[in-house]
Amino acid sequence: MDALDAKYPFFATAREAVADAAVSLPELVAADAPAVERARERVERALLDGTIASESGAFPAESAYDVQAELLSYPIARILVSLLDSQPAIEKYAAAEASTAIHRIREDLATDGELRSMSTPTVDLDDVLAEFDLADAVRAEPVRPSAGAGGPAGAGAGSQSGRDPDQYWIGVGPYLRLTSPSWGPSWRLVNRALADGEVRVSREELLDALEAAIEDRVGEGLPFELAAGEGIAAELESGVADLKRLLSERTYSGPVDVVAPDLFPPCMQNLIAKTERGTDLTPPESFALMAFLVGIGMSPDEVVAFCADTSLDAEGIRYQTEYLSDDRGSQYPPPTCETLANYGICHNEDDHMQVAADPLAYYETRVEEAESVTDWREQHAAADGE
Ligand code: SF4
Repeated sequence: MDALDAKYPFFATAREAVADAAVSLPELVAADAPAVERARERVERALLDGTIASESGAFPAESAYDVQAELLSYPIARILVSLLDSQPAIEKYAAAEASTAIHRIREDLATDGELRSMSTPTVDLDDVLAEFDLADAVRAEPVRPSAGAGGPAGAGAGSQSGRDPDQYWIGVGPYLRLTSPSWGPSWRLVNRALADGEVRVSREELLDALEAAIEDRVGEGLPFELAAGEGIAAELESGVADLKRLLSERTYSGPVDVVAPDLFPPCMQNLIAKTERGTDLTPPESFALMAFLVGIGMSPDEVVAFCADTSLDAEGIRYQTEYLSDDRGSQYPPPTCETLANYGICHNEDDHMQVAADPLAYYETRVEEAESVTDWREQHAAADGE
């Protein structure tokens, strides 16, 4: 097992490494090995913060855990999340694994070619495409000096010109399997360049699709069927109980039931401004905004009305907000400032991250401190009545 296996534990080679190591997971759990503590942290961070990155630092350079603990924590985390007996927990866990992985992949792709071989192990885009059987389904658009969409001349997904391309073509089948119209109007097939059974996507959009592929891979086979009170399930009982207690303590009930856009934190104001300019949000941006609006107590209908003049479409808003509003979604708080900073959504203007750990807490503080608050709902109702 090597650092790359630990960094991307859902890759086929990592699974083989675990099998070849012939390590007994029940024995590890019984011995309370470091992998068990890391697995617990992995699940806790996934459910509460939307990331599985260790709080001890970035793997491998800064992490408190070695390669073996990091890699073996993944199968143990999958057992732990299965024992939580909650489908939303599994979905949230898989999404967090995928978002952390795509963040690491972005960093790998940004690593200079020479550094790549010298520093920590990294993957390139061809590796990731091959991992998900997409090597033949995705090709880079040839880089041309003049403008114009890519023609039929095929090219591998990697760079053919010494620089990574910005545009790709992906087979329509994989495109439909890995993307969702609920991500925004631009993802609908009718709004896409389509030629010879291929759909044109930007590099960022391709990474969004790969994130979905990772999420599917992580969620595959979950939950495990484990007899409660027996074997490894019995050994993990107290860890599972701790996680359940933590989740119920952190159940988010909404800070203040008032919609005051002027008092929204800068991250949310920036996202709203982006949609008002007609720009689509990335899936993490869209999730962060929807989670915030639901978190301050807005119903799906209110969010649809609030976002009426933006790039967000009503169907996508309903899909996300109804999930977040129901009993399943409400037990998981929206992303923290730290997670939003990792996505580049937070710019921590005036170092205000000092004030609160998440946008909802920051909003609550601003509402409490405001001399007067105008609720958008009242303005909206008045405008509707005119
Ligand atoms: S510090 Fe938190 S509330 Fe402020 S912009 Fe960043 S994510 Fe938003």
